[in-house]
Amino acid sequence: MLDFTLAKYKDLCLAMLDSGYTPLSVHSYLTDNKTAKNKTVVLRHDVDRKINSALKIAELENDLGVTSTYYFRYPYTFKPGIIENISRLGHETGYHYETLSKSNGDYAKALALFINELEEMRKVCPVNTICMHGCALSRHDNRDIWKIYDFRDFSIIGEAYLSFAQDVRYFTDTGRSWDSKHNIRDFMNGQNKGELINNTDNLIELIRSGGTSTLYTQLSHIKNSPKALI
Ligand SMILES: [Zn+2]
Repeated sequence: MLDFTLAKYKDLCLAMLDSGYTPLSVHSYLTDNKTAKNKTVVLRHDVDRKINSALKIAELENDLGVTSTYYFRYPYTFKPGIIENISRLGHETGYHYETLSKSNGDYAKALALFINELEEMRKVCPVNTICMHGCALSRHDNRDIWKIYDFRDFSIIGEAYLSFAQDVRYFTDTGRSWDSKHNIRDFMNGQNKGELINNTDNLIELIRSGGTSTLYTQLSHIKNSPKALI
């Protein structure tokens, strides 16, 4: 079976649910103190390009009773109608910022852009958390803006990389693989570098075998069509 399809993502979600994991959005994970932090899985989707695929994933998750977080780029995947639909399905909507890359490393300009783009997004949907876009071709790491400024000044309660502790096991499909080989910037402290998670079936096996507590997955590359892969 091909990997990174909607059908395979459904298998992954079912494995999480069958194994007793509670799927959470980034916002819920960071704010809900009542939720026991073991057997939770944070589900995140960075909508880098195909926003229609994001809507399909959002619908599938809704069918399964799962909520997750979708981060949208401005203006590339900022499509108000679709974002409103995703929000209506109960998912968290957030801002996938890349302003330090856009300003070519000018921090003041990057902050001004950040404020402006955040304001535009908040006209359409709630934005409580943010997530840097990796910008593999850029010299700049968009997270670095928070070495100088504080996102909490803008009513943002968390950042999808910086606000997570080291005990979270992070898996991302950047590079259309789980093993981080092609991954330049999409990692965080304590990431499972070097683990043998090559495909989604491996990740499903890991989940079904138990023995791991908090998982955090990021999927951008799920395709609608069972045929199309990359
Ligand atoms: Zn991205």
